Amino acid sequence: QPELGDGPVKKRIGVMGGTFDPIHHGHLVAASEVASQFHLDEVIFVPTGEPWQKDRRPVSPAEDRYLMTVIATASNPQFSVSRIDVDRKGPTYTTDTLRDLRAEHADADLFFITGADALSQIFSWRNAEELFDLAHFIGVTRPGHTLSDPGLPEGGVSLVEVPALAISSTDCRVRVASGEPVWYLVPDGVVRYIDKRRLYLDPSSTN
Ligand code: ATP
Ligand code: MG
Repeated sequence: QPELGDGPVKKRIGVMGGTFDPIHHGHLVAASEVASQFHLDEVIFVPTGEPWQKDRRPVSPAEDRYLMTVIATASNPQFSVSRIDVDRKGPTYTTDTLRDLRAEHADADLFFITGADALSQIFSWRNAEELFDLAHFIGVTRPGHTLSDPGLPEGGVSLVEVPALAISSTDCRVRVASGEPVWYLVPDGVVRYIDKRRLYLDPSSTN
């Protein structure tokens, strides 16, 4: 037991995984709110490689999703972006993400931040047991989804209310494909990047 005010204090690191195709203000406000409520030192955003959950639609190139995430988080000194999933071959599994981050930050406590929709799939994830050993899970509210889940294991998951932003990446893609604005749904730099790289223009690839 370290003495008070002495010994090393464990760093508290939030992990925000996502496809981020594109990253939007719902992701950013969730990360910011959890960082505040849980006194996190930093939040690492981790864009997925080829996400196995979304194999029905072509996901934008990992490099584009990575760069949009960098653009969106660059101005916040607490936020950073990791390439671990983008650079790993094959589909992204949360166990791999957390194992790799643990190896990089051996003496930190990890807090995996996930929206209500993703949380409800938690038990369909592989190695759920191991997940809870690797990180503390924080489920955040998301408009249109229920946060409460009677099956959640005790102590493993905290449920947190964040300012409600009814924004999804799917809706942003549909908007771009149909010529509607995404200003103020995603950061300005991300609007510009989508335009520059001509992302989401093909309506068949939005859903
Ligand atoms: P898509 O529509 O393509 O599924 P998305 O908006 O759900 O995109 P993801 O990259 O799938 O974005 O989500 C990453 C994480 O952020 C997930 O845990 C998701 O639940 C959470 N999240 C996404 N949007 C919001 C939001 N508006 N409020 C709270 N959490 C959110
Ligand atoms: Mg999603």
